[in-house]
Amino acid sequence: MKQVTYEGLTFEPYISKSDIAARVEELGKEIVRDCAGKMPLFVCVLNGAFPFASDLFRAVESIDAEITFIRLKSYEGTSSTGAVKEVLGLGEDIEGRTLIIVEDIVDTGNTIYRLVDDLSKHKPAEIKIATLLFKPDALVRPVKPDYVGFSIPTKFIIGYGLDLNGKARNLNDIYILKEQ
Ligand code: IMP
Ligand code: MG
Repeated sequence: MKQVTYEGLTFEPYISKSDIAARVEELGKEIVRDCAGKMPLFVCVLNGAFPFASDLFRAVESIDAEITFIRLKSYEGTSSTGAVKEVLGLGEDIEGRTLIIVEDIVDTGNTIYRLVDDLSKHKPAEIKIATLLFKPDALVRPVKPDYVGFSIPTKFIIGYGLDLNGKARNLNDIYILKEQ
């Protein structure tokens, strides 16, 4: 792993592909333990969460589960805009279901807060939050993720789905913005 550059910003290696894979397996085991028999519906928040959701979903192959996708956007460049707009809505009936929202990262918490609020209106049995990354010091909403891959400092990261203006999502490892 070496440094990468996007839009003139330099990023250094932070979490390796193998560390991500190992942690996702552990989270999968926790979900299997908590959700066996509940037929959880994974709600993958596009675009960023798609690699994590893909790996996490396959880490629960020992239980019955379903997956669907929702598309939200709140980021411009390297900072949260605060406003969350829903781009692509949910088609299925979620009343009485156990939902597992799958996010790449919880930063300010605005996105997840808005999503939980929206989904709650459709009366699911429960809503759990699985996020690969969590920036606890950036949180401005009363949000508590149930499954957290890694808690990290309030720094900008890319890779494994996380982007800088659409780029770098295909990096297999996670990189952190270097102090310039
Ligand atoms: P929040 O609404 O502030 O919690 O931001 C959540 C969304 O912002 C995530 O789903 C990401 O798409 C994006 N985001 C937050 N932090 C980062 C980061 O460090 N790198 C890339 N995207 C981020
Ligand atoms: Mg996202």
